[in-house]
Amino acid sequence: MSQPVYYHQQCPVCGRMLQVRVNLLGQRVYCQHCGGGFVALDEQMAAEARAPQRSAADRAEELLERAAMVLGQADSDNATT
Ligand SMILES: [Zn+2]
Repeated sequence: MSQPVYYHQQCPVCGRMLQVRVNLLGQRVYCQHCGGGFVALDEQMAAEARAPQRSAADRAEELLERAAMVLGQADSDNATT
């Protein structure tokens, strides 16, 4: 039972997709193709780090709105039958 130990990141220098070891996250790594150095950052983690201010209340509100929409659709479906 081996966990995946790589994630994919695009080299900011040459644009190639690279396999980066997850244990190198946050560290300086070097592209095997062009030798360009960059900091290993998982895009998803970086995106979350960039937008951490979204509160749980906001998310709950969005979910409720979506649920209301779905329920509304279900209601109209029922009305037509
Ligand atoms: Zn590169």
